[in-house]
Amino acid sequence: MTSIPLINADQPDHPHLPDALHHMQQSRPRSSQLHLWRDQEQAHLLVVNGSQLFDLTPALEQQILQAIETGTENELLARLGLDGTPMINDEPPEAMPIHAFSLAIAQKCNLGCTYCYAQQGEFGGPAKNMSLATALQAVDTLVEQTPVGGKFNLAFMGGEPLVNRSVLYAATEHAVQQAKVRGVTPSFSITTNGTLVTEQDADFFEQHGFAVTISLDGIGETHDKLRPTKGGKGSFERIMKNVRPLLSEQRNMQVTARVTVTPQNLGLRAMLDQFLAEGFHSVGFSPMLNAPNGQGEMGRDELQLMLAEMIDCGREFERQTRQGKRYAFANMLNAMREIGKGTHRPYPCGAGAGYMGVSAEGDLFACHRFVDDDAGAMGNLELGIDATQQNDWLKDRHVHQQNPCNQCWAKYLCGGGCHHEVIGKGRLACDYVRGWLEFCMGVYLRVGS
Ligand code: SF4
Ligand code: SF4
Repeated sequence: MTSIPLINADQPDHPHLPDALHHMQQSRPRSSQLHLWRDQEQAHLLVVNGSQLFDLTPALEQQILQAIETGTENELLARLGLDGTPMINDEPPEAMPIHAFSLAIAQKCNLGCTYCYAQQGEFGGPAKNMSLATALQAVDTLVEQTPVGGKFNLAFMGGEPLVNRSVLYAATEHAVQQAKVRGVTPSFSITTNGTLVTEQDADFFEQHGFAVTISLDGIGETHDKLRPTKGGKGSFERIMKNVRPLLSEQRNMQVTARVTVTPQNLGLRAMLDQFLAEGFHSVGFSPMLNAPNGQGEMGRDELQLMLAEMIDCGREFERQTRQGKRYAFANMLNAMREIGKGTHRPYPCGAGAGYMGVSAEGDLFACHRFVDDDAGAMGNLELGIDATQQNDWLKDRHVHQQNPCNQCWAKYLCGGGCHHEVIGKGRLACDYVRGWLEFCMGVYLRVGS
């Protein structure tokens, strides 16, 4: 096994960096069927088929080590009664009904974020708003696709969706009415930069139980440098002022802060604690891995530091959970939920399957990030989903078709990585992903089960 190179000497010391490097190195795949690891002096096992987790005795640890070294995992699993029919075969799912659309309701934005995947909201084309007719057609398609008694989610994204507020409101109200007629349950979400949110929006989101995600990339100046206005001014103070009514009003709605992590904003623990103290329902982090202009992308050293910060947040989560307190670190809450239900999936997300992005012109794409990108084209609202493009996508993107994912123990938890990042930049964050999963499985075995 090759070792994880140490972080550059000029990077600051970090108390959790040794732990991060340990998890990154230890989690490199040695078997596609099992993952054996040690955490806090205890040995643990993940059986990949079925995502089953166990604490191990020293004797069992030795047997498993030997099986991995000699390539006799099948025999060992059979002996332990842990063999079974593979839960995931090579076949993509049959084309499935759509249960979620994200509408690129405004392909324009008032901010000039340095790394924006949507190229300041315009996805490389002219700025445009979605028309009311297109938005209503998208809602009707989604409602029709939802089986009676089922649920659907309508997400508003951009650019900045509140640039096109009247269409957002009308589409939401239309979705509520049509859902009632068909006997289905709608849910709504919005991802916004927070600069245009009003008190009227707060009432509207509360009335319809929106999941509101506010993009925040730091506290004060750190945020301002990464998410300036197009004129180069800061946006942090204005966002926090706008968001406070939402934070105090949230009952049906949930207001989450989402941080895109770049080399310029690696102080995750400080952001988590500050945003939770402000009243956000939860706070989540994701690394910037694929920016159209390459700006703000995370490299190897920064991913090591990010994992160290995630572990810091995760240890605090563990401490608070033991005391019976809620510490709403979204990445950890999601991981606990997924591990707890034995998540087992051949894709990283629903993109191109039950979930699609709709462009301002009414074209369909695998998800919000693929809007106006042929790599994820799936048809349009007028003619419907292009079944050939959808089936080809699902066949190609199946984790068994991805190399080296087919040899990786994390394949059914990770699903092969975000399609948009992998297609654009390859798999640069696997050590980070596996190190984080390994850490989370340890926490789950200690406090989550
Ligand atoms: S993308 Fe995920 S499943 Fe694929 S090799 Fe990397 S960590 Fe493993
Ligand atoms: S492809 Fe990536 S960006 Fe799109 S829904 Fe999946 S994880 Fe999210």
